[in-house]
Amino acid sequence: MKKGYALGIDLGGTKIYAVITDPEHNVIARAKRSTNPGSSPEETVSDMFEAAQDVLLEAGLNPEEINAIGAAVPSPVDPETGECLHAVNLGWKNVSLKELLKEKFGRPVILGNDADMGLLAEFYCGAAKGFRSAAGYFIGTGLGGGIIIDGKLLSGKKGLSGELGHTVVKVGGRRCNCGNRGCLEAYCSKVAFVKALKKAVFKRGESTLLPEDKFNEKSRNIKSKYLARAYENEDPAVRKVIDKGLRMLGASAASICAAVAPECIVIGGGVAESLGENLLPPFMASFQKHLFGIEPEDVVIRLSVLGDDAVAVGATLLARGTES
Ligand SMILES: [Zn+2]
Repeated sequence: MKKGYALGIDLGGTKIYAVITDPEHNVIARAKRSTNPGSSPEETVSDMFEAAQDVLLEAGLNPEEINAIGAAVPSPVDPETGECLHAVNLGWKNVSLKELLKEKFGRPVILGNDADMGLLAEFYCGAAKGFRSAAGYFIGTGLGGGIIIDGKLLSGKKGLSGELGHTVVKVGGRRCNCGNRGCLEAYCSKVAFVKALKKAVFKRGESTLLPEDKFNEKSRNIKSKYLARAYENEDPAVRKVIDKGLRMLGASAASICAAVAPECIVIGGGVAESLGENLLPPFMASFQKHLFGIEPEDVVIRLSVLGDDAVAVGATLLARGTES
């Protein structure tokens, strides 16, 4: 593993978040920049470079003092080529992000999938530290996932391992953004919650405590904190929709246990951070009901602890070469 300082960049749909970690993986500096959803790959790479300059300045370091650079992308990453395959969320096609980054930074930038990086960080220095295997679910705008078995992050064919948001929890169920039906993401993600809430409130006339300027017929997304506040205040529509999503999450997590038997399951992402412990009762009831062959106490369920840093820190770990 590469020692010294490492730079990690989390490329999200609306923002770029960069960190620098010291040899003990502590975050010593952070920087954030917004990025336009419609940006070209070249513009995005420039923004990533700017965020890197910002975080170097913040840390008081020169680029030469950085020993490894990693970037997390909202796309599967091909384990053979290290290339980001289809950044659907960014609207790019047939782009070599790896090459563009190498040109701009003047050195290799190692790419990883964002949810995989979040789990890697939680595994090495967060909620799943000390376990040999873990699975992670990250509930945000979509639902990301990752799997680590015997210390190794699973990548699989074309890097498509651990796409837990697209495990099917209901045959013929709700339409997912990926085009299939019944995926977990169609039940347990902010986009799914908003869709279901719109149906409940504007079609069926159910009441909600959500403020009208944050949630209305035009809404496509919502900040986690508003959902969590309404949930906390026992908003009936919000409770029904989120509890259903969490029951689907519990069933999917039990299925993952039947497939790869992780010792620990980490639940993170903005929604999980805002809901906190409130998410556990509906999740656990469904999880335990669907487990096969494993006692509930044999799988430790943890909420993520690294928050906004997780994905960028995971990118530093990948770039340092935790796997080798
Ligand atoms: Zn899907």
